[in-house]
Amino acid sequence: MGQSKAMAGVYIACAAAACAAAAVLVSQRVKVRSQKCTARKILLEFQEACDTPVARLRQVVDAMAVEMHAGLVSEGGSKLKMLPTFIDHLPDGNERGLFYAVDLGGTNFRVLRVQLGGLEGRVIKQEYEEVAIPPELMLGTSEELFDFIAKELVSFVAREGEDFRLHAGQGREIGFTFSFPVKQTDINAGSLLQWTKGFKVNDAIGQDVVAALQGCIERRGYKMRIAALVNDTVGTLAGGRYWNNDVMIAVILGTGTNACYVERAESISKWGGELPKSGQMVINMEWGNFWSSHLPRTYVDESLDNESLHPGEYGFEKMISGMYLGDCVRRVLVRMAQQAGIFGPHVPHKLLEPFSLQTPDMSKMHHDNSSDLKMVAEVLKRVYGIQNTTVGIRKIVLSVCDTVCQRGARLAAAGIVGILKKIGRDGSAANGLNRRNNTFEQSDVNGTHDEVPVNCPTGSGKTVVAMDGGLYEHYGEFRNYMQEAVVELLGEASKNVFIELSKDGSGIGAALLAASYAEYVPT
Ligand code: ADP
Ligand code: MG
Repeated sequence: MGQSKAMAGVYIACAAAACAAAAVLVSQRVKVRSQKCTARKILLEFQEACDTPVARLRQVVDAMAVEMHAGLVSEGGSKLKMLPTFIDHLPDGNERGLFYAVDLGGTNFRVLRVQLGGLEGRVIKQEYEEVAIPPELMLGTSEELFDFIAKELVSFVAREGEDFRLHAGQGREIGFTFSFPVKQTDINAGSLLQWTKGFKVNDAIGQDVVAALQGCIERRGYKMRIAALVNDTVGTLAGGRYWNNDVMIAVILGTGTNACYVERAESISKWGGELPKSGQMVINMEWGNFWSSHLPRTYVDESLDNESLHPGEYGFEKMISGMYLGDCVRRVLVRMAQQAGIFGPHVPHKLLEPFSLQTPDMSKMHHDNSSDLKMVAEVLKRVYGIQNTTVGIRKIVLSVCDTVCQRGARLAAAGIVGILKKIGRDGSAANGLNRRNNTFEQSDVNGTHDEVPVNCPTGSGKTVVAMDGGLYEHYGEFRNYMQEAVVELLGEASKNVFIELSKDGSGIGAALLAASYAEYVPT
């Protein structure tokens, strides 16, 4: 009896404990559910703010064309600098000899040599080396930065194999890819307007970057001539055109973003010099600095901009390029961690660190097809030490990646269609009737839409956009969203527009331009 009482007592005690445990479970479940609810709400609000329906994209397209026009008419007429590059002819395949390129513009620095064999031989042989830029040089002095480039270049030249040969009478000529905004005063002279991306070398602003590099090369006892100063976009255009005459536009989507295209010289009203014989000139848009009230701006963009090295500048780039996409995602996750506790009671310390989530990791999470989102869990654990995330939370994280990627890709597409519109290759130039019936849009009234399309050498009616950059190359979802939006915007006309990866144009393209603008003329 006594025993059974005791047993009963134990039983009751057990039941009470079970009850208490159930209560804890219920309250945890409620908490988890409310965490997810709050996180979902943050996600939905963010998605709404980032939304880019086709009507909104069309406004961005028109704004791009209007700003392009304004930037061509007068200096400072637009946030788009629309810089004339002095390039009035592009490589066509006839180039011959040994040429070099140095490429500075982002995370990596490249040196390259190429042996060109004219139309029959084309690119006989090429070699390149890639070196990471020591981070301290990105914030140091210009002398240190340019001397580093010169050192790498001369060491590369010193290690040249027998199968690369200068022709008799040919000196070493270089194309210098410098992917920052430069005001050019000639094909091979120009001063730095401002640093972008992660660079901030104060004493370089206003300096002639060609003279600076040339000086450093000479001080190292070498004789080389910088024949062309270009940026990665212009190099990509040249590299694309070398193989395909229909290439009219080049776009970079890498650490940063930019675009250039072939413009009718007479449209460049601000151009003070003689009009080139070809009647055309390549314009470096510096489109990263594009801004329009139609861009979907959120709290993420505001805080990212405020905390950036160049607040108020390069707003388009901050929504689109590889340097920033990961950080946009991180900022939403911070809000979710702070307001919804998605990563537990404490916000992981490292999550608060700017740029701690890099775009390649964002893209890894975004491409996770596994049912339990293993890769999302792996990245959260590796980067932030976050353990034990539920599949529900992982799904939310993936959706944030998707939202940021989709917005960036669709805005990039609108930018491209804006350029096509400006050069009369978006298919609407064929709608001459519309114009005469006065049903055209406001931007047409402003004359931003060329009546006569800018012609490519073949006059084929096709337009090829040469793309380069690690973001475009490696982020498949970004590419898909971009392509999809281009088709949405162009409709039928998208059949004549080809967006093609033109890899490493920034290196070989610069060497090709060195050949086009060389002192040495092959005989
Ligand atoms: P840069 O622009 O520095 O000259 P790249 O064109 O190679 O160099 O682009 C590098 C950038 O591309 C990186 O900063 C990164 O943002 C982006 N990137 C590289 N790999 C990936 C990837 N797998 N997924 C998404 N973005 C990537
Ligand atoms: Mg690059």
